[in-house]
Amino acid sequence: MQLLEEKIRQDGQVLPGNILKVGSFLNHQIDVGLLDKMGEEIYRLYGKDRVTKILTIEASGIAIACMTARHFGVPVVFAKKSQSQNISGDVYSVKVESFTHKKVYDVVVSGEFLNAEDRVLIVDDFLANGKALIGLIDLVRQAGAQVVGAAIAIEKGFQGGGDLVRKQGIRVESLAIIEQMDSGEIRFR
Ligand code: 5GP
Repeated sequence: MQLLEEKIRQDGQVLPGNILKVGSFLNHQIDVGLLDKMGEEIYRLYGKDRVTKILTIEASGIAIACMTARHFGVPVVFAKKSQSQNISGDVYSVKVESFTHKKVYDVVVSGEFLNAEDRVLIVDDFLANGKALIGLIDLVRQAGAQVVGAAIAIEKGFQGGGDLVRKQGIRVESLAIIEQMDSGEIRFR
Protein backbone atom coordinates (compact mmCIF):
# COMPACT_ATOMS: atom_id res chain seq x y z
CA MET A 1 0.00 0.00 0.00
CA GLN A 2 1.75 3.06 -1.32
CA LEU A 3 0.43 5.51 1.26
CA LEU A 4 1.75 3.35 4.11
CA GLU A 5 5.13 2.84 2.42
CA GLU A 6 5.48 6.60 2.02
CA LYS A 7 4.60 7.14 5.69
CA ILE A 8 7.16 4.51 6.78
CA ARG A 9 9.84 6.16 4.62
CA GLN A 10 8.96 9.58 5.98
CA ASP A 11 8.44 8.87 9.70
CA GLY A 12 9.86 5.41 10.44
CA GLN A 13 13.07 5.11 12.44
CA VAL A 14 15.30 2.07 12.15
CA LEU A 15 16.59 1.06 15.60
CA PRO A 16 19.31 -1.44 16.51
CA GLY A 17 18.06 -5.04 16.64
CA ASN A 18 16.08 -4.74 13.39
CA ILE A 19 13.29 -2.81 15.06
CA LEU A 20 11.32 -0.26 13.11
CA LYS A 21 9.86 2.50 15.25
CA VAL A 22 6.58 3.89 13.98
CA GLY A 23 5.41 5.57 17.17
CA SER A 24 4.31 8.71 15.35
CA PHE A 25 1.42 7.02 13.48
CA LEU A 26 0.87 3.40 14.58
CA ASN A 27 2.31 2.44 17.96
CA HIS A 28 2.07 5.44 20.24
CA GLN A 29 0.45 8.39 18.52
CA ILE A 30 -2.18 7.08 16.10
CA ASP A 31 -2.95 8.52 12.66
CA VAL A 32 -6.63 7.59 12.59
CA GLY A 33 -7.14 8.67 8.98
CA LEU A 34 -4.27 6.49 7.78
CA LEU A 35 -5.39 3.51 9.88
CA ASP A 36 -8.90 3.89 8.50
CA LYS A 37 -7.52 3.69 4.94
CA MET A 38 -5.53 0.60 5.96
CA GLY A 39 -8.74 -0.94 7.33
CA GLU A 40 -10.46 -0.17 4.03
CA GLU A 41 -7.65 -1.88 2.11
CA ILE A 42 -7.90 -4.95 4.36
CA TYR A 43 -11.64 -5.02 3.66
CA ARG A 44 -10.90 -4.92 -0.07
CA LEU A 45 -8.66 -7.98 0.40
CA TYR A 46 -10.89 -10.04 2.72
CA GLY A 47 -14.36 -8.45 2.45
CA LYS A 48 -15.86 -11.42 0.59
CA ASP A 49 -14.55 -14.04 3.00
CA ARG A 50 -17.47 -14.02 5.46
CA VAL A 51 -15.30 -12.91 8.40
CA THR A 52 -17.21 -13.03 11.71
CA LYS A 53 -14.44 -11.85 14.04
CA ILE A 54 -11.15 -10.00 14.00
CA LEU A 55 -8.50 -11.29 16.38
CA THR A 56 -5.40 -9.41 17.47
CA ILE A 57 -2.96 -9.34 20.38
CA GLU A 58 -2.61 -6.58 22.96
CA ALA A 59 -1.53 -3.93 22.96
CA SER A 60 -0.26 -2.55 19.67
CA GLY A 61 -2.53 -4.55 17.36
CA ILE A 62 -5.72 -3.17 18.88
CA ALA A 63 -5.87 0.15 17.01
CA ILE A 64 -5.43 -1.30 13.52
CA ALA A 65 -7.81 -4.18 14.40
CA CYS A 66 -10.54 -1.73 15.49
CA MET A 67 -10.16 0.46 12.42
CA THR A 68 -10.38 -2.67 10.26
CA ALA A 69 -13.44 -4.00 12.11
CA ARG A 70 -15.32 -0.78 11.33
CA HIS A 71 -15.27 -1.78 7.66
CA PHE A 72 -16.28 -5.40 8.30
CA GLY A 73 -18.94 -4.60 10.91
CA VAL A 74 -17.71 -7.42 13.18
CA PRO A 75 -16.28 -7.42 16.75
CA VAL A 76 -12.61 -7.31 17.64
CA VAL A 77 -11.27 -9.81 20.16
CA PHE A 78 -7.82 -9.09 21.51
CA ALA A 79 -5.77 -11.84 23.10
CA LYS A 80 -4.54 -10.77 26.53
CA LYS A 81 -0.91 -11.16 27.48
CA SER A 82 -1.45 -12.87 30.82
CA GLN A 83 -4.24 -14.61 32.60
CA SER A 84 -6.12 -11.74 34.16
CA GLN A 85 -8.57 -11.93 37.04
CA ASN A 86 -11.27 -10.68 34.68
CA ILE A 87 -11.23 -13.82 32.59
CA SER A 88 -13.25 -16.59 34.14
CA GLY A 89 -14.30 -20.02 32.93
CA ASP A 90 -12.83 -21.63 29.84
CA VAL A 91 -9.86 -19.96 28.22
CA TYR A 92 -7.73 -20.74 25.21
CA SER A 93 -4.08 -20.19 26.01
CA VAL A 94 -0.73 -20.28 24.26
CA LYS A 95 2.82 -19.16 25.05
CA VAL A 96 4.26 -16.44 22.82
CA GLU A 97 7.76 -14.99 22.92
CA SER A 98 7.65 -11.25 22.39
CA PHE A 99 9.91 -9.94 19.63
CA THR A 100 10.39 -6.53 21.20
CA HIS A 101 10.64 -7.52 24.89
CA LYS A 102 12.19 -11.00 24.51
CA LYS A 103 9.85 -12.26 27.26
CA VAL A 104 7.54 -15.26 27.04
CA TYR A 105 3.90 -14.40 27.74
CA ASP A 106 0.87 -16.56 28.32
CA VAL A 107 -1.57 -15.22 25.77
CA VAL A 108 -5.21 -15.97 26.47
CA VAL A 109 -8.67 -15.53 24.99
CA SER A 110 -11.84 -16.30 26.88
CA GLY A 111 -13.89 -19.20 25.52
CA GLU A 112 -16.86 -16.80 25.47
CA PHE A 113 -15.49 -14.82 22.55
CA LEU A 114 -14.30 -17.43 20.05
CA ASN A 115 -16.29 -20.46 19.04
CA ALA A 116 -16.44 -23.18 16.38
CA GLU A 117 -18.76 -21.15 14.12
CA ASP A 118 -16.33 -18.23 13.85
CA ARG A 119 -14.42 -17.31 10.70
CA VAL A 120 -11.50 -15.34 12.03
CA LEU A 121 -9.29 -12.72 10.39
CA ILE A 122 -6.10 -12.17 12.37
CA VAL A 123 -4.82 -8.58 12.28
CA ASP A 124 -1.57 -7.26 13.74
CA ASP A 125 0.69 -4.24 13.42
CA PHE A 126 3.96 -6.12 12.70
CA LEU A 127 5.06 -9.51 11.48
CA ALA A 128 8.69 -10.41 12.20
CA ASN A 129 9.61 -14.00 13.13
CA GLY A 130 5.95 -15.00 13.21
CA LYS A 131 5.69 -16.02 16.88
CA ALA A 132 2.69 -13.77 17.61
CA LEU A 133 0.84 -14.84 14.45
CA ILE A 134 1.52 -18.54 15.01
CA GLY A 135 0.26 -18.18 18.60
CA LEU A 136 -2.94 -16.47 17.43
CA ILE A 137 -3.54 -19.19 14.81
CA ASP A 138 -3.17 -21.77 17.61
CA LEU A 139 -5.81 -19.95 19.71
CA VAL A 140 -8.29 -19.95 16.80
CA ARG A 141 -7.74 -23.66 16.28
CA GLN A 142 -8.22 -24.40 20.00
CA ALA A 143 -11.66 -22.81 19.62
CA GLY A 144 -12.41 -25.06 16.62
CA ALA A 145 -12.86 -21.90 14.54
CA GLN A 146 -11.61 -21.23 11.02
CA VAL A 147 -8.62 -19.01 10.20
CA VAL A 148 -9.64 -17.00 7.13
CA GLY A 149 -6.19 -15.43 6.94
CA ALA A 150 -3.99 -12.72 8.40
CA ALA A 151 -3.72 -9.02 7.58
CA ILE A 152 -0.58 -7.30 8.77
CA ALA A 153 0.28 -3.62 8.60
CA ILE A 154 4.07 -4.00 8.33
CA GLU A 155 5.84 -7.27 7.57
CA LYS A 156 9.61 -7.41 7.89
CA GLY A 157 10.05 -9.93 5.09
CA PHE A 158 13.71 -10.56 5.84
CA GLN A 159 12.80 -12.06 9.24
CA GLY A 160 10.91 -14.91 7.58
CA GLY A 161 7.75 -15.25 9.73
CA GLY A 162 5.36 -14.36 6.91
CA ASP A 163 6.77 -16.86 4.47
CA LEU A 164 6.83 -19.55 7.17
CA VAL A 165 3.10 -19.11 7.76
CA ARG A 166 2.32 -18.86 4.01
CA LYS A 167 4.10 -22.21 3.53
CA GLN A 168 1.58 -23.70 5.97
CA GLY A 169 -1.15 -22.76 3.49
CA ILE A 170 -2.45 -19.77 5.41
CA ARG A 171 -3.22 -16.59 3.52
CA VAL A 172 -1.09 -13.70 4.80
CA GLU A 173 -1.58 -10.22 3.31
CA SER A 174 0.73 -7.43 4.43
CA LEU A 175 0.12 -3.80 3.51
CA ALA A 176 3.87 -3.09 3.42
CA ILE A 177 6.65 -5.67 3.25
CA ILE A 178 10.14 -4.46 4.13
CA GLU A 179 12.83 -6.45 2.37
CA GLN A 180 15.80 -4.66 3.84
CA MET A 181 16.48 -1.86 6.30
CA ASP A 182 19.88 -2.58 7.85
CA SER A 183 21.72 0.02 5.76
CA GLY A 184 19.46 2.73 7.17
CA GLU A 185 17.59 2.93 3.86
CA ILE A 186 14.27 1.07 3.79
CA ARG A 187 13.63 -1.14 0.75
CA PHE A 188 10.18 -2.67 0.14
CA ARG A 189 9.38 -6.00 -1.54
P1 5GP B 1 6.90 -11.77 15.71
O1 5GP B 1 6.11 -12.49 16.74
O2 5GP B 1 6.35 -11.93 14.31
O3 5GP B 1 8.38 -12.08 15.77
O4 5GP B 1 6.79 -10.20 16.05
C1 5GP B 1 5.57 -9.56 15.93
C2 5GP B 1 5.22 -8.77 17.16
O5 5GP B 1 6.35 -8.11 17.70
C3 5GP B 1 4.20 -7.72 16.81
O6 5GP B 1 3.00 -7.99 17.52
C4 5GP B 1 4.81 -6.39 17.22
O7 5GP B 1 4.12 -5.86 18.33
C5 5GP B 1 6.24 -6.70 17.63
N1 5GP B 1 7.25 -6.23 16.64
C6 5GP B 1 8.04 -7.02 15.86
N2 5GP B 1 8.90 -6.31 15.13
C7 5GP B 1 8.65 -5.02 15.42
C8 5GP B 1 9.24 -3.78 14.97
O8 5GP B 1 10.17 -3.72 14.13
N3 5GP B 1 8.71 -2.64 15.48
C9 5GP B 1 7.70 -2.64 16.39
N4 5GP B 1 7.25 -1.47 16.82
N5 5GP B 1 7.13 -3.78 16.85
C10 5GP B 1 7.59 -4.97 16.37
